Amino acid sequence: MYRSAQIKIGNLLLGDQNPVRVQSMTTTNTMDVEATVKQVFELVKSGCSLVRLATRNMQEALQLEIIKNKLHEFGIDVPLIVDVHYNPEVAIIAAQFVEKIRINPGNYIPEEVSSDIEITNRELSGIIFKNLDPLIQVCTKNNTVIRIGVNHGSLSKRILHKYGNTPMGMVESLMEFVNVFKQEKFDNLVLSVKASDVSTMIEANLLLVERLVDEGLSYPIHLGVTEAGNDIEGRIASSIGIGYLLKKGIGDTIRVSLTENPVNEVVVANKLVESFGRTNSWTPLIDWKYVSMKMRLKIIPTIITKGKSSISDLSYNDLEFTNELSDDLQKLAICNYPGLSFDELMLVASVDISSLLLDENAEGICINNSEATTDDQNAQIIRETYQSLDLRVSNTKYVACPTCGRSTVNVAGLLSEIKKATKGYPGLKIGVMGCNVNGPGEMTGADFGIVGAGLGKVDVYVNGKVKHRGITEEIAPEMLNSVILEAQNKDSFIKNK
Ligand code: SF4
Repeated sequence: MYRSAQIKIGNLLLGDQNPVRVQSMTTTNTMDVEATVKQVFELVKSGCSLVRLATRNMQEALQLEIIKNKLHEFGIDVPLIVDVHYNPEVAIIAAQFVEKIRINPGNYIPEEVSSDIEITNRELSGIIFKNLDPLIQVCTKNNTVIRIGVNHGSLSKRILHKYGNTPMGMVESLMEFVNVFKQEKFDNLVLSVKASDVSTMIEANLLLVERLVDEGLSYPIHLGVTEAGNDIEGRIASSIGIGYLLKKGIGDTIRVSLTENPVNEVVVANKLVESFGRTNSWTPLIDWKYVSMKMRLKIIPTIITKGKSSISDLSYNDLEFTNELSDDLQKLAICNYPGLSFDELMLVASVDISSLLLDENAEGICINNSEATTDDQNAQIIRETYQSLDLRVSNTKYVACPTCGRSTVNVAGLLSEIKKATKGYPGLKIGVMGCNVNGPGEMTGADFGIVGAGLGKVDVYVNGKVKHRGITEEIAPEMLNSVILEAQNKDSFIKNK
């Protein structure tokens, strides 16, 4: 079993003996002190234990001290985190004012090195150390925690060459840095391996823990599903990835990323901690049944509801059960809940369903929620869970960033309009990203998408490449749909999906 070591971030203790902590991120412009302080206050009030701020440049890094002082004036002592892209100099300044800094390994290895497939481990460690040492010194002096955050989709050419764009590649990329910190005896670390694909995120974390155990290492782990989107899809994707791992005792801090008001992220995250965190474990009532082969469908896993629903495959009441187990029988799990609200049910049931599918090989799921939700609602939760795990894809898939101070467009509004304009393309992945920091990278894994490119403007992408530049956000949803239809007509792109 993995036990994460205890470390301190500001006034919080992280590690195996402590509660799982909820993190969120502001969406305000960091230069706007009043708006940022107000949003931090709202997040803390809603139960957020750590707040991350976007820090694009030196001006914003210097602004952190003012924000920190203002928060203290209001009696708010929440640990702050910054995420610095591209500029290690900015990280050095920011690390003096905040409790934790997130670094992306890609920013500390020059391009020519990151694509050098011949480089030895020793040479690579030397280069990483040289580039990281100034930050290590500042963080040691100020007791600032460093999170090494590897995201799927931003792996170096060298890692891609060796391991492909895989969970294993993510772990290897992270461990190159962990080993340098270990040599320097810097233990104030948090680790994360995130992905927008739920199965990839789960697998990467399981591999990471296995690797840490093998090497006798122990660090707190931060969990999150990136670009989960909004509404039920966003909640279910985050719940599965985070909840599944929390249930296994993995995870010390969590961030639910939603393309919505960040307060909503905190509400969902706290529900996950309450249900699956190490101090309070949710115990669903689950029955197993074996269903005769004649009821079994070709497509598995099956969606089963108690009564009839237009979304489900089978009605529980029509099933024939048998006590004998043989090869021609299907494993059906019935998850019983004590009458939860729809919002609560989607969070806990999606985690239970994913555990049953991934760990118990269930082939069909039925939710029984004491009639508090309708059969259609229960079926919708089961279907979204299958879709998030790519076990059964029945809708267009959306990946959308949660927005932050770097966004130049209204991502939440764009996502809603794009969903309306592009629903009904099962198997198609559409990306909606607020800026060009993570946007172009995320587009390489999407079939179509838009990325914020200046105030109120977006670039439209097809297969990872820009198709139209500088489109006003009002007309972007319809233009995106036209581009999809054009591709569909041109080369049966969608038919082949
Ligand atoms: S894509 Fe840009 S705007 Fe969206 S969360 Fe990432 S950095 Fe922020």
